[in-house]
Amino acid sequence: MRETSFDIAVIGGGPGGYVAAIRAAQLGLKPVVIEREQLGGICLNWGCIPTKALLRTAELYHLMGRASEFGLAADNLRYDLARIVERSRKAAARLSDGVAYLMQKNKITVVDGTAGLQGQGRIAVTDRDGQPLPEIEAKHIIVATGARARTSPGLEPDGKVVWTYKEAMVPRSFPKSLLVVGSGAIGIEFASLYRTLGAEVTVVEILDRMLPSEDTEISSLAHKAFAKQGMTIHTRTAVEHFAHHGDSVTATLRRPDGLAEELTVDRVILAIGITGNVEGLGLKQQGFEIAKGHIVVDTWCRTGAPGLYAIGDVVGPPWLAHKASHEGVLSVEKIAGVEGVHPLDKTAIPACTYCSPQVASVGLTEEAARAAGRTVKIGRFPYQANGKAIALSETEGLIKTIFDAETGELLGAHMFGAEVTELIQGFAIAKSLETTEAELISAIFPHPTLSETMHESVLDAYGRALHI
Ligand SMILES: Cc1cc2nc3c(=O)[nH]c(=O)nc-3n(C[C@H](O)[C@H](O)[C@H](O)COP(=O)(O)OP(=O)(O)OC[C@H]3O[C@@H](n4cnc5c(N)ncnc54)[C@H](O)[C@@H]3O)c2cc1C
Repeated sequence: MRETSFDIAVIGGGPGGYVAAIRAAQLGLKPVVIEREQLGGICLNWGCIPTKALLRTAELYHLMGRASEFGLAADNLRYDLARIVERSRKAAARLSDGVAYLMQKNKITVVDGTAGLQGQGRIAVTDRDGQPLPEIEAKHIIVATGARARTSPGLEPDGKVVWTYKEAMVPRSFPKSLLVVGSGAIGIEFASLYRTLGAEVTVVEILDRMLPSEDTEISSLAHKAFAKQGMTIHTRTAVEHFAHHGDSVTATLRRPDGLAEELTVDRVILAIGITGNVEGLGLKQQGFEIAKGHIVVDTWCRTGAPGLYAIGDVVGPPWLAHKASHEGVLSVEKIAGVEGVHPLDKTAIPACTYCSPQVASVGLTEEAARAAGRTVKIGRFPYQANGKAIALSETEGLIKTIFDAETGELLGAHMFGAEVTELIQGFAIAKSLETTEAELISAIFPHPTLSETMHESVLDAYGRALHI
């Protein structure tokens, strides 16, 4: 019989949970991971990785459609939906298997089952048939159960014509028309994917702009770019109701002027947010505080109940894999008493949207910086003036940097354009090193690269841009 007593029990094997377990093993602690579905969680199986595999196909399709611009010929461009989906599923499976290998390599016990807290460090586990497995005991418990798509009354998914991200990732047929409800990162990535592959896409956003958590200027540039690509975007508009008709659906939209409008489409993707997997775990009985569907924790991921921690999507926004993994490491290091571990600084978490062109940001938006009473210096540099962007024929883009005018502290960076999801890490490192404009100005950026736009944006904030 396998062991039942551990130093740390992690409930959930997503990027929060499995990384916490690896760090615990590295520190000489004995961890167990209890996972009810697949190692890798949403990120590897139904989120980050399979969507990026699909978006890669869309990117190639788009570029091949522009072949003549590059002196190439690519006639009769077609795609095979089943193979596109198969490639994406293979990428997900490969990574989930990779996590299983990492568990073995680090000698981490993995229990295939559903966990519930019993109090005093005890966890009840049932197998996939609901049969009880031996109880687990642990000195510390980390809840990393993740989150799922949020729904709202009247806007329930049926998995056939009204999809969540799961169905949207494995379509059996390609919709001619698509309504995406919600314009956060998940909604916009799917909108971009389906539009690039030829669907008529309408995006409806209840707030006053698309990508509402991004800097207003970047949202507005993205809006213009997607409208130019043929996407219809309605902001300040609510979707109130769906009427199903077999293989299509009519959505009732409430426009900003209060008038109702009907839109009939083949498929709908609901991307109206995320809610934590807090049910069935016995959290309230164990003293966890739940607010807005998420577990409340402090900056060390402590729940307030002794020995009980929570990390990742289940503790609320930003719902990002790297934030979940970071919390996994910091909570375990806190438990192990590692010196020099820092609490979570949300302003240093980069956020990326892999639409085309891409969006990436870290730190405060201009609006948030001003609202916080900071006097700011702002730099901007367009892709149009960058040699590499011209060579790549990717001249749509902007890098915006925000500095504290008094101290020179880098407060935020906001990027729109090709490959900005790779570039943002430069500013994320700068922010976590508490860099000022002085270090960024004196840093040497390689030529020709898109990264030079970052340098130029910083220079522009101080009236020193060289190429505009
Ligand atoms: C379509 C989509 C695209 C995304 N793209 C990105 C991206 O590009 N970049 C990014 O950073 N983030 C992205 N995300 C978000 C990312 O997937 C999540 O932030 C990340 O998975 C959170 O990790 P987690 O470990 O907190 O939770 P999860 O990955 O959700 O893992 C939680 C695990 O806990 C298990 N579990 C739940 N309850 C129990 C229980 N009672 N007992 C046992 N096991 C349990 C679940 O089965 C699951 O495997 C995307 C999400 C979606 C939906």
